[in-house]
Amino acid sequence: MAARIPRVPVREQDPEIRAKNFKEVCLGYSDEEALLEAKRCLNCKKPACMTACPVSVKIPFFIAQVAAGNFAEAAKIIAIDSSLPAICGRVCPQECQCEGSCVMGVKGEPVAIGKLERFVADWSRENNVKFLEKKPFNGKKVAVVGSGPGGLACASDLAKLGYGVTIFEVLHKPGGVLTYGIPEFRLPKDTVVAAEIENVKALGVKIETNVVVGRTITIDDMFDKEGFDAVFIGSGAGLPKFMDIPGENLNGVVSANEFLTRSNLMKAYKEGSRTPIYVGNKVCVVGGGNVAMDAARTALRLGAEVTVVYRRTEKELPARAEEVHHAKEEGIQFRLLTNPVEIVGNEKGWVTGIKCEQMELGEPDASGRRSPVAVPDSHFTIDTDVVIMALGTSPNPLIAQTTPGLERNRKGGIVANEDGVTSREGVFAGGDAVTGAATVILAMGAGKRAAAAIDEYLKNKK
Ligand SMILES: Cc1cc2nc3c(=O)[nH]c(=O)nc-3n(C[C@H](O)[C@H](O)[C@H](O)COP(=O)(O)OP(=O)(O)OC[C@H]3O[C@@H](n4cnc5c(N)ncnc54)[C@H](O)[C@@H]3O)c2cc1C
Ligand code: SF4
Ligand code: SF4
Repeated sequence: MAARIPRVPVREQDPEIRAKNFKEVCLGYSDEEALLEAKRCLNCKKPACMTACPVSVKIPFFIAQVAAGNFAEAAKIIAIDSSLPAICGRVCPQECQCEGSCVMGVKGEPVAIGKLERFVADWSRENNVKFLEKKPFNGKKVAVVGSGPGGLACASDLAKLGYGVTIFEVLHKPGGVLTYGIPEFRLPKDTVVAAEIENVKALGVKIETNVVVGRTITIDDMFDKEGFDAVFIGSGAGLPKFMDIPGENLNGVVSANEFLTRSNLMKAYKEGSRTPIYVGNKVCVVGGGNVAMDAARTALRLGAEVTVVYRRTEKELPARAEEVHHAKEEGIQFRLLTNPVEIVGNEKGWVTGIKCEQMELGEPDASGRRSPVAVPDSHFTIDTDVVIMALGTSPNPLIAQTTPGLERNRKGGIVANEDGVTSREGVFAGGDAVTGAATVILAMGAGKRAAAAIDEYLKNKK
């Protein structure tokens, strides 16, 4: 019976209208739509969706409460495993996690788990539902470096256990990539992100911004001078990569991180902002992940004609399927199997184009993906005013360099086990700082596991 109900479509801003504004694209479910979609869930005895969620949100249980109209109860169930549901419901790559394993997807469309999670989280924010339980202060202090999803999740779990937690953040606003990277049209800052951060603060977590850990204060200072009993490092992977091709120093070449930080954190997209942002008439974005889609769609909204240049095919695009779909609907062009070899410019030092070569797919590489191989004599140039490099990021080495005994791997990540235990006693780490650029939910999961390990460590410490 349930299998016959088609997936309830979610309302979205019209592509032509939204391509000119920064308001959220997806409008979410109404109460009635959420009830209808929740009724599609079969409440499986062995829910594959739950196993595929990196933090094991109790999916059939919360969906059953939505189907019964008990939205506050549904929110309570989600909160057991996820501290950032309004965010994860919006940005998790559901198609390869929870929804990718939903049995309803075998012969039809999976249950819209992400949209239901988002609905519940938004409903509880709008209805001011609070169920933050915490124990009294247990006398122990933990420092958290970085206020991204990893740091926020670790801090909130520790605060609930009674620890005195202070987050140290280098930027002037907390949230990590949620604040400076992912654009407003995917993740509203003043409502969604701010509210989730307020929830963490409501647990008693202090957030000190404008603190460069490794310069303003070192990890050793945290133990020796500030009296912290343990430290969690969730400093992310904010160091952009470039291609190392001729012309990358021309004016008009910018990393996606800088471009998005100008727009999101410094609000350059808003009229009257004092932060400049340049897009010219034509923009090329190099890369195919979420970062590339965000940069492309931001440049489009700032008035440019935008082309994404990616060296593999559409099938290999690492971005969330929804972002690629939205980007295409909005009019972003894709030049696939295309690899830049040089950025060309004029006598004044400004970009005028990207020289590329045509690629074809060869044998699979170590990761199982077919490697792109250049087609001989296939060079061509794409005219452009701006090139945005969205080729991935790696962890900033500053903290590891200024913390004696903290081991790093060859990609610059801090070496830590599943529980976040590092080579330095009392120092734990997780999220992108350990794995390199990954996802919000993986960082959140790492922060939660590290919080449990820190609790265990401090309970047993003499
Ligand atoms: C543009 C963009 C789009 C993305 N889209 C998605 C998506 O759709 N879905 C998804 O799941 N993931 C997405 N990701 C990836 C995801 O956002 C990250 O994997 C996640 O934020 C990592 O969390 P984190 O807590 O480890 O680090 P971050 O979010 O990077 O937070 C680290 C924080 O530490 C701070 N910090 C760094 N060094 C120091 C220091 N020395 N002292 C003090 N503070 C410091 C940083 O300023 C930052 O605030 C995207 C990433 C980007 C850049
Ligand atoms: S946290 Fe992410 S993966 Fe888990 S159920 Fe929610 S949307 Fe799915
Ligand atoms: S696998 Fe799909 S149908 Fe089964 S419990 Fe999970 S969401 Fe419901």
